[in-house]
This record gives sequence, C-alpha cells and structure tokens, in this order.
Amino acid sequence: MKIKFRKQITQLYRKMDDTWKNVADQYGFVCNGCEDNCCQTLFFHHTHIERDYLVEGFNALEKSVKLEVLHKAEAYCDKLLLFSSPDKPFRMMCPLNLEGRCLIYDHRPMICRLHGLPHELSDTNGDREHQPGCRAGHARFNTKGYIPFNRTKIYTQMASLEAAYTRTIRRQGQRIKLTIAQMLTQDT
Ligand code: SF4
Repeated sequence: MKIKFRKQITQLYRKMDDTWKNVADQYGFVCNGCEDNCCQTLFFHHTHIERDYLVEGFNALEKSVKLEVLHKAEAYCDKLLLFSSPDKPFRMMCPLNLEGRCLIYDHRPMICRLHGLPHELSDTNGDREHQPGCRAGHARFNTKGYIPFNRTKIYTQMASLEAAYTRTIRRQGQRIKLTIAQMLTQDT
C-alpha cells in the first residue's frame, strides 16, 4: 500500500478511536471483553483499503503465528459455508483473536473500532436511524441516556478514502463483502 494511503487510513482510524473513547468515557463504559465477545460476531467488511491494511498487519506476524491463524481462518470459512440456521446467528471467534487479544490491533478494521456504543446514522434526507449498542453496556447506556454518536461522517470519510484507493489500484467498482477469515484465506 502506498505510504499516503497508509497514512490516511491510520489518521482516520485514530479519529474513530478518539471519537469512540470520548463517548465511551462519558458513559463510563469500558470494553473488557464479555460473554457476547464481539470478536465472535459475524461481520462483513466492504472496503479494499481496510482489507489490504489488515493483510499488511497479518503479514507482519511471525510465520508460526500466521500459519496458526490461517488454519483457524480456513476452519471459520468452512463452518460459515455450512452454516444454515434462520433462528440463531452465526458465532465463531475471529481467527485473529488469540486468548482475548487482537493480534493485529493497530490494523483492525472500522467495525471492530466502532462496535458497542449506541449510535446513529443519517441518510441523505437527514433522517436518522438509531442503534442501541451492545448488550453488555445496556444498563449503563439506559441510565445515562443517549450520548450523541453519529457514525455518518466517519462512514463518508471512509467511502471517500476507499474511492481514491480503488482508483489508484484499479479496482473501481469491484465490490467486496468479506469476513476477516475470508480476507486472510483469499489474500495471503
Ligand atoms: S480483527 Fe481483532 S478486534 Fe476485530 S474481530 Fe478480529 S480479533 Fe476482534
């Protein structure tokens, strides 16, 4: 990845982390891991720049660790392929989580950084959709009342960065929808 894009995504991630922490501090909310561990939640990621940045973080790991992660990533993809249950969501630990610790913490994608807190999104008409935040924090969130956390600007900035990045790498218009396990098994 060109240095300028690495710098830009790092800055945007820092901004997300600061915004998230600022709101979390106002709730007095600390994410210390919980039974609902969001690293076990099925998330899809949609940007080439995040995928490539995550893979850079993965490639910097020691060879033996990488092999272990890839083994887990393949098992994750196999389980997801066979999963079929309309009643309960898919749950499996992210292959990059080792004993509760994210192995590529500085390279983790946007949703890993923004998850947990109540937030809102605005559409182009200015209508807002609210999301309640994770179950672990519900009691605290309800006691405090909603502290404004609008993700729209962050998503817009990520979309602009992705557009510039895909222009440069000539992947414009090539949409992706990948789990972290799929990113690792396809790209490494
Ligand atoms: S990338 Fe890191 S923070 Fe995100 S789900 Fe995987 S282990 Fe958790």
